[in-house]
Amino acid sequence: MSLAPKGVTCSGCGFSQQIVRAPVTLRYPLPDGGRATAYRSEGWCPRCESIQDVEELPDVQELQHSIADYERRVQGGRLDRIKDRLGRPPSNERELAHRELARLEDTLRWRRSRQSPPRCLGCGSADWQAVDWVSDEHGGHSNISHTELFRHTCGGRLRRVTEPNLRFHCRPTQIVLTPEGQVLRTEPDDGDDLLGDFGNRMSRGR
Ligand SMILES: [Zn+2]
Ligand SMILES: [Zn+2]
Repeated sequence: MSLAPKGVTCSGCGFSQQIVRAPVTLRYPLPDGGRATAYRSEGWCPRCESIQDVEELPDVQELQHSIADYERRVQGGRLDRIKDRLGRPPSNERELAHRELARLEDTLRWRRSRQSPPRCLGCGSADWQAVDWVSDEHGGHSNISHTELFRHTCGGRLRRVTEPNLRFHCRPTQIVLTPEGQVLRTEPDDGDDLLGDFGNRMSRGR
């Protein structure tokens, strides 16, 4: 897979950063043997002094809806919408469906017991800030009031720029974390989650 890097610049100082966002899945092995899964978001980490990937803790209600929806499909035999990463219906649909349901239930159990706020995946700090980007098109502000606006340490605002002429090859990666979000290791995604994108959409409610 090849991706164009995103650049970040600041309106107030010479800060710039180049970000290549390879596909990343966060995996949380649980003490009871379960395996929870989540995805990442991004934010400004003062400790890393850069834009970093951060944990995105899935919404409990969305997980509950996904599980209920999934149970209906499994029980109703409506498995035809389950596809593998290449868009083919897998041959062992039923087994995959049960595995995916188990993953969603593990994730819900983990999400309910999770104490820590989402952490920066670079340094583990929970003290990161969401960024409201200056839009390229309008250069203006969103409907967020000035007091809430994210400011770079210099007082400026951050803008994303695309650098379409550059491309990097990157492979899907998984980050293995403790249930409270301490990174244990980063490794190539083993592809064991055969439902791939379907699972993502289910658990993200998209
Ligand atoms: Zn700045
Ligand atoms: Zn950090």
